[in-house]
Amino acid sequence: MKKRKIKDENIIREKILQAIEKSNNGINQKYLWKVLKIDSKIGTRVLVKLINEGKVSKSVSYVNGKKVYIISQPKHKLVILPIEQLEGLVCFPCSDIYKCSDEGELTPVNCPMLNSWLEQN
Ligand code: SF4
Repeated sequence: MKKRKIKDENIIREKILQAIEKSNNGINQKYLWKVLKIDSKIGTRVLVKLINEGKVSKSVSYVNGKKVYIISQPKHKLVILPIEQLEGLVCFPCSDIYKCSDEGELTPVNCPMLNSWLEQN
């Protein structure tokens, strides 16, 4: 029973990510559940995990005075650091640097080593 639930969540997760990737400016959350034929309660639970992982972002918009939640790919802030500040960057000696990318399980967005280094610098 529990395995089935996790498998379904993984399928939902992929469906949400694919739909958001295809949309240019994000997608209305209510519309997302309709198009993907996903129960909103389960979909919201998966969506919260994706937001916490930094893989999607949620913003509020108003259409004809009605509040609408828009789900989109996160816009990463561009931070320009002087070269001196890159000294000691944890990615340079990291043994996982060639496995790390902007997609997949190992990403700079969810890397505790990088986040810790950024907080200290
Ligand atoms: S973001 Fe983390 S995992 Fe990726 S290269 Fe840097 S230290 Fe390694």
